[in-house]
Amino acid sequence: ATPTALLVGTGRGAQLGILIKGPEVLESTRRVDTVVLDKTGTVTTGRMTLLAVHTAAGTEEEDVLRLAGALEHASEHPVARAVAEGALARLGSLPTPEEFANVPGLGVRGVVEGHSVLVGRERLLTGEVPELPEELRQALESAEAAGRTAIVVAWGGAARAVLEVADAVKPTSREAVARLRDLGLTPMLLTGDNRRVALAVAAEVGIAADDVIAEVLPQDKADIVKRLQAEGRSVAMVGDGVNDAAALAQADLGLAMGTGTDAAIEAGDLTLVRGDLRAAADAIRLARRTLGTIR
Ligand code: ADP
Ligand code: MG
Repeated sequence: ATPTALLVGTGRGAQLGILIKGPEVLESTRRVDTVVLDKTGTVTTGRMTLLAVHTAAGTEEEDVLRLAGALEHASEHPVARAVAEGALARLGSLPTPEEFANVPGLGVRGVVEGHSVLVGRERLLTGEVPELPEELRQALESAEAAGRTAIVVAWGGAARAVLEVADAVKPTSREAVARLRDLGLTPMLLTGDNRRVALAVAAEVGIAADDVIAEVLPQDKADIVKRLQAEGRSVAMVGDGVNDAAALAQADLGLAMGTGTDAAIEAGDLTLVRGDLRAAADAIRLARRTLGTIR
C-alpha cells in the first residue's frame, strides 16, 4: 500500500474509535487468523458484585466480610473491588490491614486484626490450610456451575467461607465474536478464572468449548500466545489488564481496551478506545481494506 493509503487507514481507524500506534501495524493486523480474548474486563464488563457469602460451621458472616473486605480494599482487582464494596455496604467501615500482599492471578494475603488472612482462588490455599469442609466445597461447586467466580476466605489455618462474585458479559461481546467469525477468524477465550466460569461466558458469547483456555496464571498468558504461534497461527490478543501486558506484547497484534490499564495500552499496537470489542473486528476489516485484501 502507498503511504497515503496507510495514512487514510489510520485516520479512518481514529473515526472508528481505534488508535493505531503506527501505519506499519496495519500489515500485522491484516494477517491475523486467531483472536485471543481475555475474559474479565474484555469480554465481560469487569464490574463485579458480591452476590453471596457461604460460611463454614461456627464462622460469622460479619467476621468474613470484615477480614476479607479489609484486605480486598487494598487491591484494585475487579474481584477485590466487589468484595470490598459488598463488605462496606454491609458494615459501613473496614479495618486497615497490618500487612498486605497481592498474589497475582490467585488473590491477596495479609494480616488483619492479628489474623493471617487469605482471600482468593482455592489454589491460593494449597499447602496453607486443610481441604475445604464439605459445606464450602458444595457452595464452591454450585457457584462455579452457575458461571460465578467463587472466592475462598481463610484465616487461623482454616477455610472459613466461600464468596460468590459475578460480572456480566458486555452487551456487545456476542455480536463482536460473530463479526470476528464472519471475517474468517477463530475467536478464543483466555482467562485466569476457573474453567466452569470460562465455559459459561464462552457459551454466552458463542465461543466453542474447545477454544477456551482457563486457569492460566498471569505470567503464563504470553506462553499460551507463543504456543498458538508455534502451531502456525497469526495471533491477535485483546486484553485490558496489567496481567495481559506480556501477552499483548508477544502477540502478532496486541489490542488493548481503552477502558483498561495503562500497562495494557502501552503494550498494545492498537487501542480500542471505547472498550467495545466490536472495534476489534472493525480494525481487522479496515486493515484488509486499506491493504487491498478485502474478503
Ligand atoms: P482474568 O484472566 O479473567 O482477567 P485474573 O488472572 O486477574 O483474571 O484472576 C484470575 C482469578 O484469580 C480470578 O478470577 C479470581 O478467582 C482470582 N483472584 C485474582 N485476584 C484476586 C483478588 N484480589 N481477590 C480474590 N480473588 C482474586
Ligand atoms: Mg482482564
